[in-house]
Amino acid sequence: MKYSPLQNYINGQFVDSSSARKLAVISPIDGNHLSDVPMSTAKDLDAGVKAAKAAFPGWSKTPIKERVQVFFRYKYLLEKHMKELAELVQEENGKTYGEAVAEIEKSIELTEFATSLPQLVTGEVLEVSRGVECRTEHVPLGVVASIVPFNFPSMVPNWTLPNAIALGNCMILKPSEKVPLSSCRLAQLLKEAGLPDGVFNIVHGDSEIVTAICDHPGIEAVSFVGSTKVAKIVYQRSTSTYKRCLALGGAKNHLMVLPDAIPGMTAQNVAASMSGCAGQRCMAASAMIGVGNVDSIIDKICEEARKIIPGENLGAVISKESQQRIEKYITEAETQGAKILVDGRNAKVKGKENGTYVGPTVIDYVKPGMSVATEEIFGPVISIMRTNTVDEALAIENANPYGNAASVFTQNGGMARYIIDRASAGMIGVNVGVPVPREPFSFGGWNESKFGVGDITGKSSIEFWTKLKKSTTKWNAEAGVNWMS
Ligand code: NAD
Repeated sequence: MKYSPLQNYINGQFVDSSSARKLAVISPIDGNHLSDVPMSTAKDLDAGVKAAKAAFPGWSKTPIKERVQVFFRYKYLLEKHMKELAELVQEENGKTYGEAVAEIEKSIELTEFATSLPQLVTGEVLEVSRGVECRTEHVPLGVVASIVPFNFPSMVPNWTLPNAIALGNCMILKPSEKVPLSSCRLAQLLKEAGLPDGVFNIVHGDSEIVTAICDHPGIEAVSFVGSTKVAKIVYQRSTSTYKRCLALGGAKNHLMVLPDAIPGMTAQNVAASMSGCAGQRCMAASAMIGVGNVDSIIDKICEEARKIIPGENLGAVISKESQQRIEKYITEAETQGAKILVDGRNAKVKGKENGTYVGPTVIDYVKPGMSVATEEIFGPVISIMRTNTVDEALAIENANPYGNAASVFTQNGGMARYIIDRASAGMIGVNVGVPVPREPFSFGGWNESKFGVGDITGKSSIEFWTKLKKSTTKWNAEAGVNWMS
């Protein structure tokens, strides 16, 4: 085992879980045993909530301009330790080093946004009647929880922790049990940046601890990022105990390619979108709809896909189980009559025989009802469907239950606008394969890709992590009565 067994992080200290149950953390790159992660109990969570509750009065009363100083220092520490943090992400998640660096860069951008929060939460004041003022203030909620998935071990925790904490909340983070190492390192950096003990806590575990988070009466709000199946469970369970919840789920993102799309650029974007992070991105292109004759573009997509080599410019998928699931989807499509133009099954990387790799896969002549057309595969696979018209393409996109992202590749601005207006997704790209809005714009999908109100990052997250206090005051001494008095 490369690293010592992991501990929870409570009140500024790494402490043992009360549970003996643990899981092995395995590197998808080569199957190495990196560490063990404890499967914590409700008792461990309670200790975290107690620490966070104790820290809340002091932290929430610290002026926001002072609170964000921690995040200026944290941003500097992320920059300073970029290489080490990226290597850790790469090791536990399996993505390429370049992708891991991009993830840390995005974490820095998210932190940068948090440092700008004092500019965005100034509230409002207005004299609403003679001598009578109404004022709004953003007030932190208290103890909040953030439950995160495996695919971005650093970025997704940083979607929530800088904003929630800079806005005055104290947090319990539940990392993915598959990639818990990066979160522990972030805790150390937050401490070094001067975050007071108890403001940020980590409780490791699996579904048992997630259930305990949803049920805990001391937690005011829960943010969740993961699959739709679990997002629904978390949303239902945490709101049934009257918590605020924002739960982001899975995705099936459609790219519509029109015959006037620029072939080279389109092919590069489609191939990069479907294969980046080994297809394990909730913003990855998973289905492509060719409208009219786009055969020459599909040829170029295959050319681009063949340049993507597992173990070189393509990382591993998270586990053996994922590898088998993805390959099963490809085989199923083949038996149902689809044509595998580029086949990523049985990928092997020399010297990394225990790694879990799937090569880039392009499947053509997919029919809308097939499982590769409708289900989230979460691997480097693109399923191509064909239609004669844009409206038929939109009908396929609209019928899918998810709604994270959709993109169109065209040179026709009017057609692009037509698709922006009609695609049923929260984030739309025009000639962009991965249309992630960058700060200060917020991130969030629609339909079964998100449950709850508002988005998880950017300005929209302010509403989620705070409640508004509205005060009405009168300081004039006159005794005159009007309807406001
Ligand atoms: P997951 O749903 O399996 O796990 C997410 C979290 O939930 C983990 O912390 C896990 O421990 C916990 N969990 C798992 N099963 C549970 C259960 N039955 N009850 C309670 N908690 C449970 O997701 P994952 O495999 O880690 O991540 C991949 C998924 O996340 C994909 O579907 C992907 O699209 C999605 N995702 C979505 C977004 C987005 O912005 N919408 C971003 C990243 C990932």
